[in-house]
Amino acid sequence: MPAQIISGVETAKAIREELATEIADLKTQHGVVPGLVTILVGEDPASQSYVAAKNKTAHALGIHSEQVTLPADTSEEELLRIVGEYNANTAIHGILVQLPLPKHINEAKVLFAIDPEKDVDGFHPVNVGKMMLGERCFLPCTPHGILELLQRSGTETSGAEVVVVGRSNIVGKPIANLMLQKREAGNATVTICHTRTKDMDYHTKRADILIVAAGVPKMIKGNQVKEGAVVIDVGVNRIGQAESGKAILAGDVDFNDVVDKVKAITPVPGGVGPMTITMLMKNTLQAAKQAAGLI
Ligand code: NAP
Repeated sequence: MPAQIISGVETAKAIREELATEIADLKTQHGVVPGLVTILVGEDPASQSYVAAKNKTAHALGIHSEQVTLPADTSEEELLRIVGEYNANTAIHGILVQLPLPKHINEAKVLFAIDPEKDVDGFHPVNVGKMMLGERCFLPCTPHGILELLQRSGTETSGAEVVVVGRSNIVGKPIANLMLQKREAGNATVTICHTRTKDMDYHTKRADILIVAAGVPKMIKGNQVKEGAVVIDVGVNRIGQAESGKAILAGDVDFNDVVDKVKAITPVPGGVGPMTITMLMKNTLQAAKQAAGLI
């Protein structure tokens, strides 16, 4: 049977429609409009396009969105002052500081200065700790998107052998932790691989669900996956440029080499990518509802 292609585009579209309805209801029933601010320091083209996409999506869903664009030489002190202002601004429920920040700014210090109740990226230690404990919190957007893709594609996670390749704080560690939780879209037996893993193939070949977030284009080949596995490819790697000027992207999984062997797989582009921004919108709605005492 041909592999099921788990479309992030379609799943994100369905979730956005649900969010737009909920946001409209929140406004009519409670007079609350969710507010999001994105703060960008410097002129990195990739960061500029991510921030633009976030604001565009927020606007399309009925979220009030503000963008603060600061020069690359903005001081840490000034950035912290601006974060403090938005912490106190009751029209703003979510604060997103676009990473990476220029080298002279301590990223952790800035992220930790965001009010945990407005930390819609889910990077603040309070939210990371709550996630670990299984308490309600803002889940980091990419792992949150992966959970939705697994759930909505009907992938059974309970009792599954899940292997995660990558241990970053934004993808590998949190998705491994979430898959381990005693809850729906969890209850898995989880292994995490990284560059010091001795025999990675041994682990990837026994995975019922293989989640790859390594940042190495096409590193996972067909002979490294189990027949009938579900493969979630988080990688987004620029491997060239088309004549149109558009970047050519590849995932961390060699899609063509793997697709005939697996039960289901996410493509790149169009898999995990579209889910990340959508989960940011979901978190912003959650922040607004929490601030209004509705949850
Ligand atoms: P990262 O911070 O660079 O972490 C990469 C992880 O992969 C590290 O833990 C590293 O191990 C491990 N790794 C690298 N090469 C490996 C290898 N050959 N064998 C085993 N493990 C290896 O990356 P990240 O931020 O998690 O991102 C990973 C990928 O996902 C990137 O392509 C990124 O662009 C993409 N991404 C996509 C989204 C999205 O929305 N779709 C969001 C975030 C990231 P060590 O710890 O031992 O170095």
